[in-house]
Formats: sequence, structure tokens, C-alpha cells
Amino acid sequence: MNPNHVFVCGNPALDFAATLRARRSVRFEMFATPDRLAAWYVESGIVDAVSPAAEPDVERARAVREAVYELVSARRRGEDYPAPALATVNLTARGPAAAPQLTPSGRRTEATPQEALSTVAREAVELLAGPDVPLLKECDNPECTRVYIDRSRGMRRQWCGMESCGNKMKAAAYRARRKTPKTPKAAAAPRTPSPAKAPPTR
Ligand SMILES: [Zn+2]
Repeated sequence: MNPNHVFVCGNPALDFAATLRARRSVRFEMFATPDRLAAWYVESGIVDAVSPAAEPDVERARAVREAVYELVSARRRGEDYPAPALATVNLTARGPAAAPQLTPSGRRTEATPQEALSTVAREAVELLAGPDVPLLKECDNPECTRVYIDRSRGMRRQWCGMESCGNKMKAAAYRARRKTPKTPKAAAAPRTPSPAKAPPTR
């Protein structure tokens, strides 16, 4: 699996939740090292610079990530939030967050990993209490498990991204179509004939 961080979900909290990839199959961990975690905070745009992360930061980030994912999943299913996940995210959001500073060259945000994590938790709070909840959708690639915000007209977006999943799924569908031998029309008829239908008269 591609080890580069990806940002396709339309919200940093969702991209964060998606850093455990293919949750229902291989469960690929994107926060494999403290450096990979720190890189995510910068690449996501949460901060411009982050002080070096250590192993406990990774453990904390993974725990908050799993809590965010649980809350998002519960919200999508219309279920109550699991209390431990709610407590984890709220506690993290209460901590000091990454503070943007004005500099002669513009805005700059430097933070500790803990402050960056608090910012992510606040993003999750805003998302789940905000207007985008009805737009939350899981990628149609059954292996992917990314949840994204579908802002497309008529909510017809199928994939988290064309590059990440769409092209792969389209190619697989194309291969499947080519492999399936053409079946004659009769074989494609429903197995149980509808009783409402009158027998053909000759
Ligand atoms: Zn996907």
C-alpha cells in the first residue's frame, strides 16, 4: 500500500480517521513512527511546523483517531455516540490547540504534537456538530473504508478519490466484464417465473 499521506476526505478529522487504512481487511497503519505522525500534522495543513513527536504522541494520536472514527461511524448510522469515544475526543479538544500567529510574511502556526492533536479533535467536534453530517459517505471500494464529505451534485460521488480508489475499481469492473462470458438472454431470465405472468399463447 502507498505509504504517502493522502487528503481526500474534505475534512482534516476525516483524513485523520482514515490513517488506519483498509480497516476491515489489512488495517494498514499510516502513523507507523513518530516522524510519520509529525509529517501528517504538517501535510494536513493543521500546522506549518511541529516539534518532534515521540512514541507516546503516536499512541495518543491513534487512540484519538479511533475515537473520532467511532463517533463518525455512530453519527452515520444514526446511533448514540459511544461514551468512551466521546470522552476521549472532548478531553483532547479541551487541551490547548495549535495557535496561528501573525508574522511579517503572513500566518504561521507552530505547535507541539499534543496541540496539533487538540486541533484535530476540535475539527472533529465542529464536523459532527455541523451541517456536513448528512453528506458523510463511505467509499464504495469495500476495502477502502474512508469516510468523506460528498459535496457533489445529487451526492453521486462514489469514491474517496479517483486516484486512490475510483480508477482501481473501474479497472476491476472492466476486467470482470471481460472475464464473464456473454450469456444468452434466456439464461439471464429470473429463476422463478413471476406467477402474475400469463403463459404465452400460440
Ligand atoms: Zn476509497
